[in-house]
Amino acid sequence: MTTNQQLFDTASHLMPGGVNSPVRAFGSVGGTPRFMVKGEGAILTDAEGREYVDLVCSWGPALLGHAHPAVIEAVQAAAARGLGFGTSTPAEAELAELVVGRVSAVERLRMVSTGTEATMTAVRLARGFTGRNLVIKFAGCYHGHQDGLLAAAGSGLATFAMPGSAGVTEATAAETLVLPYNDLGAVEAAFEAHPGRIAAVITEAAPANMGVVAPGEGFNAGLRRITEENGALLIMDEVLTGFRVGPGGYWALAESGWAPDLLTFGKVIGGGLPTAALGGRREVMEYLAPLGPVYQAGTLSGNPVAMAAGVATLQNATSEVYEHVDAASLRLQRSLAAALDAEGVDHSIQRAGNLFSVSFGTSQRGVANYDDAQAQESFRYAPFFHSMLDSGVYLPPSVFEAWFLSSAHDDAALERIEAALPAAAKAAAA
Ligand code: PLP
Repeated sequence: MTTNQQLFDTASHLMPGGVNSPVRAFGSVGGTPRFMVKGEGAILTDAEGREYVDLVCSWGPALLGHAHPAVIEAVQAAAARGLGFGTSTPAEAELAELVVGRVSAVERLRMVSTGTEATMTAVRLARGFTGRNLVIKFAGCYHGHQDGLLAAAGSGLATFAMPGSAGVTEATAAETLVLPYNDLGAVEAAFEAHPGRIAAVITEAAPANMGVVAPGEGFNAGLRRITEENGALLIMDEVLTGFRVGPGGYWALAESGWAPDLLTFGKVIGGGLPTAALGGRREVMEYLAPLGPVYQAGTLSGNPVAMAAGVATLQNATSEVYEHVDAASLRLQRSLAAALDAEGVDHSIQRAGNLFSVSFGTSQRGVANYDDAQAQESFRYAPFFHSMLDSGVYLPPSVFEAWFLSSAHDDAALERIEAALPAAAKAAAA
């Protein structure tokens, strides 16, 4: 048997940090990353044959659990017909129809391959549509690794305590205004300071990359009002929340009577294969090539196997699935709080829809923005994480990430997590 450590050693000689995405390296929790070889339902199996109840769910896509039979069958059937043709295929419109049917703010949709591409294209489109250069983002919100949006970008970057990234030019960074989350006054002031120059505000529909931080009452609607008053676009990033917190994502769940101009999707929309999308108002979307002057393209965009995974996932993401995930999330939040309370660990559980995360030492002040998230006692997470891992529960290897559940997290899986919590809470208390 090859051990996780041997696999990591080999990988580290071949790939920077031994990984293809930084947070997988266990940098903020230490120890040896697990190399998974199989996922079935709520359970992952590593290279050493150890099983874990999975609370990462592929960072969101696995809403139906791993290897859901209907998704695997659809993927196998599509793959057997060919992996891609570089032409349009019927499944693209099929997936687009499912999205348009679920998210009324989407009149037109463009498939891309990653969430980063979706937000990158949305920003370019906003600039092309408005003829303006500046973009507002919020500290702690992550929109993928496009240059202009890496400043104060939460999760992976928060984990590594990097303010932005080397390699991003000052000229690029200067076109992004980074504001504190949940502060409409700061947004209004930015529009006053830069009249006629701001193309768009981009925001996570509900941030989940500085831990979960719910938008305050009326915050997203306030962004809509301010952008509209100033002729700028509102881009709502639903890469993480879309089709996960509810059938239409967070915007459809929490707000009514207004719509963003553009929305971005990823993760669940591809059911575990590389698909993402941007969509929105027809007038804006038709600024994209081939109809409009804003260029965007992709060899693998709308790949038929990925489309099949997305279609099968959304078709099976029924109201029962969301009811199950909501209930499992509530149950786990309560069990987690009870275990931490029993050990006297000061904490708060942050939630938005069925997404939640824990932060330590924050019960008094709460967590409304990135400064609050960074001020927590994050050192308590590594011992908590490793205790859970030793008990067979795979948590996100960073305190700044949400915990993800699926419809496959049944009573047995939840009981295994709950059985592991007391020891982990004790470890966090130490
Ligand atoms: N936007 C949000 C809100 C995300 O959470 C992520 C990834 O976690 C992205 C964009 C980037 O997506 P991807 O990793 O597919 O490029």
